Amino acid sequence: MSQESATKICILGGGFGGLYTALRLNQLPWDSIQQPEITLVDRCDRFVFTPLLYELLTGELQTWEIAPPYAELLQNTAIRFCQGYVKKIDIDQRLVQLDQGREFNYDRVVLALGGETPLDFVPGASSYAYPFRTIADAYRLQEKLRLLESSKQDNIRIAVVGGGYSGVELACKLADRFQQRAKFRLIEMGTDILGNSPDFNRQAARKALTAKGVFLDLETKVTQIAADQMSLEYKGHIDTIPVDLVLWTVGTQVNPVVRDLPLEHNQRGQICTSPTLQAIAHPEIFALGDLAQIQDANRQAVPATAQAAFQQADYTAWNVWASLTNRPLLPFKYQHLGEMMALGVDNATLSGLGVQLDGPLAYVARRLAYLYRMPTWEHQLRVGLNWLTQPIVDAIA
Ligand SMILES: Cc1cc2nc3c(=O)[nH]c(=O)nc-3n(C[C@H](O)[C@H](O)[C@H](O)COP(=O)(O)OP(=O)(O)OC[C@H]3O[C@@H](n4cnc5c(N)ncnc54)[C@H](O)[C@@H]3O)c2cc1C
Repeated sequence: MSQESATKICILGGGFGGLYTALRLNQLPWDSIQQPEITLVDRCDRFVFTPLLYELLTGELQTWEIAPPYAELLQNTAIRFCQGYVKKIDIDQRLVQLDQGREFNYDRVVLALGGETPLDFVPGASSYAYPFRTIADAYRLQEKLRLLESSKQDNIRIAVVGGGYSGVELACKLADRFQQRAKFRLIEMGTDILGNSPDFNRQAARKALTAKGVFLDLETKVTQIAADQMSLEYKGHIDTIPVDLVLWTVGTQVNPVVRDLPLEHNQRGQICTSPTLQAIAHPEIFALGDLAQIQDANRQAVPATAQAAFQQADYTAWNVWASLTNRPLLPFKYQHLGEMMALGVDNATLSGLGVQLDGPLAYVARRLAYLYRMPTWEHQLRVGLNWLTQPIVDAIA
């Protein structure tokens, strides 16, 4: 660590793992050492609250609510934001290389670059299927939906690949948007949708999908996607069907920058960490969120969710701080708080902490729970006030 200049903490990725780590680090007391230089790097200029990304497609929420710019979120902090694409991390030199030749040295680095949607499982997917993970994905999809809506076509055919949370939530929201104008099918390889969900949520999701007329293709594999058709394999038999839009929600893969690091990885390319969220044999490197394989202090495997990344951020910030101020590091303990899912524009389901709820009440509870999780109280206040006043503004207009 250099003596003359401030300690440098570099946080790569400003999602649920990285942004919340930065915000928490900024609150910790640095009395015993000089205030470190904290830099947050992200390729985008704004944070995305992914659990509410679907609401952009239905017009229920606006970009500023679910994707506030970092400049706004960090304005009252000592955190420096740098918009740039992380190209390489040299762990021997402790150097991060960004696009356009920019470089950063670090004393501690936090890896929080999340995951990507793989589009190479099936021929044609990378050219014709629409992924749904980033704000750019949402805008691109929005454009396509507008084109379909403004066409003269009556029977629009939309296929959603993947019967996990994203697939179910997308199908429900879009079915509400298109009403009778589109026919939806949800394609899932397994024997049921939402394989890892509590039974209550799965039943509520099935009920909602049936009510919206979404056709379920279970035990069905997509074998090919083309401009206006796709091939599906069911019990060894392949059918090719016409389709106007294919949404791809299956899988998460680790960013190549992370996969190529000379660190211990699991088979999926995630970085293996100790319970203190440090890369094995590299205590100066912290890793969290979707790019990390974490076994917590109770040896339970931690899921790749926003809920988990959010909890890890607290520990990561503490442990980075503790490692620089000679305090003991804390092993991460994951607390599963349950799960929530949107099931359309006025419906949701939630299970957790002994509560099971679906319908409009669950819809409101989900919104409030996410409001509470939004970064910075200033942003929570702006969004909360908007949610309170918008119905009045709409009624007057
Ligand atoms: C549509 C959708 C809905 C979801 N809903 C839920 C939900 O309801 N509940 C739940 O718990 N989880 C949900 N998830 C999962 C959740 O979003 C992730 O588990 C969580 O965001 C992981 O946090 P992270 O910090 O690892 O990654 P992210 O939050 O994805 O953050 C990664 C950040 O790194 C940046 N980045 C990536 N590569 C580079 C690069 N090379 N250079 C610079 N910056 C880069 C990205 O721009 C991004 O800001 C959902 C995911 C999606 C896609």
